[in-house]
Amino acid sequence: MIDLPDMFGIDRDQLLNKVAALLPEGRRIEREDAARLFRIAELTEIGMLANQVRQRIHPGRIVTYLVDRNINYTNVCNSDCSFCGFYRHNPRDPEAYVNSKDVIGKKIAEALELGATRILLQGGHNDELPYDYYLDLISWIKDKFQIELNAFSPSEVHQMHRVSGKNYGEILRELQQAGLSGLPGGGAEILDDDVRKRVSPKKIGADLWIEIMEAAQDLGLTTTATMVIGLGENLEQRLNHLDRLRELQDRTQARGLKGFNCFISWNLMHNQNTSIGRSRHAASFGASASEYLKNLALCRIYLDNIPNHQSSWPTLGPDMAQVGMNFGCNDIGSTMMEENVVSAAGAPTLHRWSMSPEELRAHIRGAGFIPAQRNSSFEIVQIFE
Ligand code: SF4
Repeated sequence: MIDLPDMFGIDRDQLLNKVAALLPEGRRIEREDAARLFRIAELTEIGMLANQVRQRIHPGRIVTYLVDRNINYTNVCNSDCSFCGFYRHNPRDPEAYVNSKDVIGKKIAEALELGATRILLQGGHNDELPYDYYLDLISWIKDKFQIELNAFSPSEVHQMHRVSGKNYGEILRELQQAGLSGLPGGGAEILDDDVRKRVSPKKIGADLWIEIMEAAQDLGLTTTATMVIGLGENLEQRLNHLDRLRELQDRTQARGLKGFNCFISWNLMHNQNTSIGRSRHAASFGASASEYLKNLALCRIYLDNIPNHQSSWPTLGPDMAQVGMNFGCNDIGSTMMEENVVSAAGAPTLHRWSMSPEELRAHIRGAGFIPAQRNSSFEIVQIFE
């Protein structure tokens, strides 16, 4: 292995030894060291460090998965994100839709037949949907089906604020009373406003994303955190994202609340359906598989207060998800049954949007781990030795 000169005020071995000494004791690494680690460490070295953190938090070989269905209630959206190929801006577009209760109900019934324990409901920011639409949909689902319901990322909650004038806390309380048990962490992309203004200027900024998540966590709703790399962001902007998440998690946990229960990251997909993909700068977007893995490991090390880290199969496929289990991840995500957002931007899910529980278990075993089904609160339902 080539020893790099002391480019960052500390040499390679010193840095690796320093980090390796901190992690088993549950001590955290600071931002400067995280930046150095990302730049200096070999892929396998950072992967091993991430596994140390994983083993401290989740000793053993269990990797979990969730049986669920992802349902999009509408693809109409006013936000025009440059990386999105899913939305239709005009509600009169022939491809625009708002799924009826009938359609949504059929999808939930199919999911229940497969043994799903959760429904994940997300959609665009559709100005034609009144606030009552959301409350009515949640209470209708909860009345009709026995299933946990996670729905509406922070930018959708902001859309409800726009159409109702109600504050975020009030909206979230009413959704919770209607039967909502958690919020997905979508729409975080990179929590740095320079990046957001460049790629999704109409979407909520980093402060609002954090504020809405904090309000949800205060109510005890289940929440997850996400990150999308490859938006042309630099390492400092990625660290800004991680700092925002780590700080919020510290604040929430200091109040005795659970905060984010899982962190999920993936690479930007940008085919011809997205404005980034059609632009002449398309080649400067996206991230390589090695960069994804390195970032995956760095996130496990840096976000030491988020207990579960997911090696997600929909964007980079199940083979990469298997590798990710050796980069600090203790979860492979879910069956999904349906995926329309990253698929529309070119993810492999365009051709393969569903994974059966048996397949997920086979991928976990194939990577040398023991599969276990969990619910959305990460409680183990069954271990498959
Ligand atoms: S990513 Fe979400 S918010 Fe942005 S355009 Fe697509 S559906 Fe709308």
